[in-house]
Formats: sequence, structure tokens, C-alpha cells
Amino acid sequence: MNSAEWSSAAQRPPTSEVPHRLLEELLLIWTTSLLRYHRQYAADEACVTDPGPNSTNPYRRTSILGMSHPPVGDQASPTTVFPARAIHTLDSTVPSGSAIAVKDGRFLAVGEVDELVDVYGGTVDHSLADKVLLPGFVEAHSHKDTGGIWQFTYVGFEARRGPNGRLWRGCTTFDAVVDRLREADRLLDDPDEPLLAWGLDPIFWPGERFDRRQLDTVSTTRRIFVAHSNMHLATVNSALMEQEGIDPDTLAEGVPKDDSGWPTGELQEFPAMALAGQTFRSFFGRTQSDESVLMFGQAARNVGVTTVADLGTSNLLDEAVVRQWIDIADETFPMRAAMFHGALMSAPDGDEACASAMVDLKRRSTDRVRFGNVKLLMDGSIQGGTARLRWPGYLHGGPNGIWLIAPDQAAERIGPYHRAGLLVHTHANGDQAVDALLDAFDQVQTANPLPDHRHTIQHCQMTTPGQYRRMKALGMCANVFSNHTWFWGDQHRAITVGPDRAARMNAARTALDIGVPLSMHSDSPVTPLGPLHVAWAAVNRQTPKGEIMGEHERVTVAEAMHAVTMGAAWQLRMDDVIGSITPQKFADCAVLDADPFEVDPAELRDIPVWGTMSGGVLHEGSPQTDA
Ligand SMILES: [Zn+2]
Repeated sequence: MNSAEWSSAAQRPPTSEVPHRLLEELLLIWTTSLLRYHRQYAADEACVTDPGPNSTNPYRRTSILGMSHPPVGDQASPTTVFPARAIHTLDSTVPSGSAIAVKDGRFLAVGEVDELVDVYGGTVDHSLADKVLLPGFVEAHSHKDTGGIWQFTYVGFEARRGPNGRLWRGCTTFDAVVDRLREADRLLDDPDEPLLAWGLDPIFWPGERFDRRQLDTVSTTRRIFVAHSNMHLATVNSALMEQEGIDPDTLAEGVPKDDSGWPTGELQEFPAMALAGQTFRSFFGRTQSDESVLMFGQAARNVGVTTVADLGTSNLLDEAVVRQWIDIADETFPMRAAMFHGALMSAPDGDEACASAMVDLKRRSTDRVRFGNVKLLMDGSIQGGTARLRWPGYLHGGPNGIWLIAPDQAAERIGPYHRAGLLVHTHANGDQAVDALLDAFDQVQTANPLPDHRHTIQHCQMTTPGQYRRMKALGMCANVFSNHTWFWGDQHRAITVGPDRAARMNAARTALDIGVPLSMHSDSPVTPLGPLHVAWAAVNRQTPKGEIMGEHERVTVAEAMHAVTMGAAWQLRMDDVIGSITPQKFADCAVLDADPFEVDPAELRDIPVWGTMSGGVLHEGSPQTDA
């Protein structure tokens, strides 16, 4: 990468050339065989959805569901009745029952055991008799690397549990991070193999700087790449910088320097992280393996999640990636996935061509894998200092973040996907980024009004009441990052935005009161996958120091449970097949050992999860170990 090019890019607002340069780096990661998507392949596949006689009309969408229903009149498959201690359907018509009847992988009925057996016959399975059933949780913002990231060394502040149930202690000091990296370094035989780690959170050590110097005490010869917990930044050591030519002549945006003029080793946002070249590609490439997808399924099952959104982690223009998901996600796989193509910085043949490919791909959706969705990013991370904030900016006085799409290009980027009827979910953390995004959606909606588009702003951390009213008017949805209150709440109060703006962050109460369709998420692996924790955070808004961060933005347990089931299903356009225990929907349940509507709301996150039911099949979670 030519530093002079980055230099000129850093001097001016982003233009279309900047994303183009990025693309050369980024596509190496998300593709193993770039642009091998063949239209004829799609035609060969069994299409579950017929686009209909008007399919040449770009505004005509394929079926919202994109999924098949079992044939009527097939009496061959057996019915199973599962009694449970309590059942909360989240369907207001029949809100509870003592048993569910399941057939063909679908809910057949909810009621009392004897009544269900009388009417539908079949066998009674008592294995869930002491459990509490809710609809399977739906995580509408997570990433495929939720599974694969655990092959790297974890150096995060909080203790975390991997998909196999193993508990990793948190690294709460600089020394703890360095010690764990040294241990990992010792275990690597090949001196050329880079040391890859993740979860770093320098914001917990204000006033000190974790940079290449600490990493150099781990190794002066092995390349070290440590992704921050927000996944928008990384810190690298001198050996890596030397190999990739990151030096005082590097003038890219997102490459801060120390007093001597040397880059500190921190690389902010994807363009700068891509300067880590081979190591960067290795980090993100390895999380794309089959094993990663399988571990993602394990992680979901362990926390009661039966449907995830993979939000932009996969390049769906790559036929190998598409096939990987279709092949792995068969009826034995414990989760469904709504796949969002990561049109991060640009699309290889432009957004029109990408939108057209995604419309074709949508027809290959199965009962377990949904295509036809696109993810874009406007800005970065608040705790990483790369989100774009309105006046008065960051409390710590740092520069006002990084645009990942220039505001004046946002409508142009979004337009092709909107016109094609695709679902567009866009990352915007800061309120200035939300302003730019709302202007863009206003433009595309005015030019091509599309009812029921369900475009969603992801994170919405600083979104104001005025912005929520615009979102309501534009028919947009909000997916708020409720977990932030726990994971970075004290830092937001003290360092990033101050106590008043912190109290207004992730304003779930305001969004609901204004009538914006709401979900809430973990953004795993940024915070741990686990809707009960997310719901707990939105209900309690408690920080680790015991502060209540914005008591007036708290929501009820019922509202939070709706957000992580029906609210998320709606935003993924899957609410007719998942999100509640309702006849005809897929028989997907979260299987819990305690009742979220009965426990003290302060203990919501502590409810033990037994596992899930997915399409009528039971999946028990991994045994938990502390080793
Ligand atoms: Zn994300």
C-alpha cells in the first residue's frame, strides 16, 4: 500500500477512490475466489420462491418469507407433544400453555397436554417437562466470527465463555494482557506464524497507552496482531510494522503517531487495519472456515438463540461462501441465519451489479439460510474514538471519528439496494452518522417510495428523540446496542461522552414510545452472544460500578423479550416464520431453567439456558468448564 495515496486520502473527505483502494485489500479477505458468482448457477438451483410474472420489475420483491411451507394433507409425519413447566409464546392470541405440539418441524398447536393428544394424537415427550419455553431468541446483529474468533488468544477485560463452554479469565491489567500473549507466543512452534489475539480494550486504562512497545516485550521477531474488542481497531508490534512498511512515512488516516513520529502500532478502522497486510488477511480469513460456522452454531445454541443475522461478515458474491452456508445449515444444524452481504466500502462491479446479484441469490434461500440482505457502515466505534458525533463531539477532546461512507455518497450507495427491494441494514453509532444516514434514506425513499422496506439503523447508540421521529416517518427500524451500558457504561460516563449523553445512549424507551420498531443486540463477538444479557442490560441499565445509566430509558422485561424475539424477526423480514410460538412457524424455542417473567429482573442474565429446539429437534448446550 502506497503511503502517499493514503496521505492524500487523509487530507480530504473520503471520495469514491478511497473505498476503491480499500477494496483491493478487503476483497482478498472476504473472498477466496472473487467474483465467481455465476447467474446460471442460481438458475440451476431449486427456487423456493417464484419471482412471478412481473419479475423484470425491479420494484417487485420476491416473497417476503422466501421459504416453503409443508404440503397440506401429509398425515405421514408424526406429531410430538412436549409438556413444559411454563410456556411464553409471545403471541398475544394464545400467550401461554402447558404444552406444544410439533409436526414437520413446525409448531402445530399450543394448549394443554391432554387436549393436544386428544386432538392431534402422536407421542408425548417429557424431556422438557421441567423447563421454561420461549420462542427461540433472534440475534439481529452478530457476526460469523463469533465462532472462529476463539481459535485466537482472548485478551479482553471481561471473563468470557467460548462456544465449547470453556471460561476465559478477563485480562484486567496491561501485565495480564502481556502475560497471556507471552504464553500464546511460547505455544507457537513456527517462528513465521503470526500471533493473533482479540478483545483488547485500552479504554479501561485511561492515561496509559497500550501500543507496539508492550507488544514488543512479547516478541521482537514474530508478527503480533491484536484486534480490539470493537473489531474496528487493532494494535500491532514493531516486527509486523517493519515487515509491512508501516513507518514514519505512513500518512494514512487512522494511523496515529507518537512524539518521535513513529506510528504507535494502533490501526484505526478497516483501511488502516488493512495495512497489516498478510497478517490482517490471515486474521479475518481464518474466521471464515467451516469450523467457524459450526462453532457459531454451538455458541448460539448455548444461549437460546435459534436465528442469527450474520451482519456483513460474509462476501456473498463468492459462490464458495454461499455453498458453505447452504451445505452446513441442514436440519441438524441448530440455527437459522439471515445472511447480510458485506458491501463494506464498495462493491467490486459497483452497487447496481451487486444488488442484481443479491436479488438472484435471494431465490436460493432455504428454510435455514436467508439471502437478499445487505450491510453498510457509516462510521466506527464510540469507545474506539472512530464514531462520528454531533457537537460537542468527544468529551475527551479526541478527533471526531472516521467516515466509512462519505455523507454525500450515502444515498448513491444505498439507492441500488433499496430499488432492488433488498433489506439494507447500516451501522451508525454516532448521532452525526445517523443524520447523514437519515438524509440518505430520505433521498432514496423520496425518489423510489417503497412501503414496508424495514431498513434498519444498527447500533443507534447516540440517536436522539428527533432522529427517532425521522426514523418513524421514514419507516425505519432501530436495533440498539443495549449491552454497551454494562460493557462500557462507566467509560462512556467518564471518558467518551459524559454522564448526560451516556444516560441517553441506546434509548430503547424513547424508540418504543415514538413507535420505531425495536430490536436489541450483542454485536457478537464484540460483546458475548446472549439475548438474556442484552435484555437484562436494557431492563436495568446498570454499569459495572453500580450506576444506573439513564433510568428513564429502561424498558420492561416484556418489552425486552419482545425485542429479542419478534422485534428482531420483524427487522429480518422473518416474523411470519420465527419470533413467537405460533402454529405454522418453525418449531424453534429457547429452553430455559428459569422463567424470565418470574425471576427478579436484576437476575435476568443469570437464568441458566439448557439449550434450544430448532425445527422441532432438541439441542443441549455445551457443558460449562472453568479450565
Ligand atoms: Zn457489528
